[in-house]
Amino acid sequence: MSLSDHALLRYDRQIALKDFDIDKQQQLAAAKVIIVGMGGLGCVVATYLASSGIGQLTLVDPDTVSLSNLPRQILFTETDCGKAKVEVAKQQLALRNPDCQVIISQQAFGKSSEWLARCAEHNMVIDCTDQLSSRQQINHLCFTTSTPLVSGAAIRMEGCVISFTWQKDEPCYECLSHFFGEPVGSCVENGVMAPLTGIIGSLQAMEAIRHLTQYGSETKGRYLLYDAMNFSFTPLKVKRNPDCRLCA
Ligand SMILES: [Zn+2]
Repeated sequence: MSLSDHALLRYDRQIALKDFDIDKQQQLAAAKVIIVGMGGLGCVVATYLASSGIGQLTLVDPDTVSLSNLPRQILFTETDCGKAKVEVAKQQLALRNPDCQVIISQQAFGKSSEWLARCAEHNMVIDCTDQLSSRQQINHLCFTTSTPLVSGAAIRMEGCVISFTWQKDEPCYECLSHFFGEPVGSCVENGVMAPLTGIIGSLQAMEAIRHLTQYGSETKGRYLLYDAMNFSFTPLKVKRNPDCRLCA
């Protein structure tokens, strides 16, 4: 996909990056990405991916905007309360970058043949959901279709990011299950500090761009934990679980 003069000007600071150049900006323009969940993570991921030149975003979320969403969900305002999140997000992203094609779905993402086909048509899925069951379903669909997956989570004052590109010996999300412990519930019961979703969502957007363009080093099995309470990032290495109920 060749870039217009307008696009060359718009993305000039990215194109100026060493080894990124016009080639990788063109790869972003050709990329199709699904974002599941338009909460605190999804709003940030969608904003950065649209603004940095991704060609097509598919936004998936069945919910409507509520007042308690507003501290984290930066695409929405008080006048949007009661409206479908994906509708408002589409309008806001069009204002920020009309060159990004935005497709929306108010269906819940699930293990259906329709979603399996849609995963296979996209270059990447970004998991911005807040339920373990949703994460497991997304992992299952991406594993089945070998669609790269960037997964992020944020709760209380803690967050994490990991990517799955389905290479040999790479773990899947289920392989990490020993990290989960007892289910901790959602942000509704546990709370979450607003900028945390901005930090984790930004890391997810950065990883998405890196994987879509093969820019920078590989991150096979690297799991990054962020502890906001103690101002620390901890990188962990996750191995494939030989007894994993999905990928073993
Ligand atoms: Zn696995």
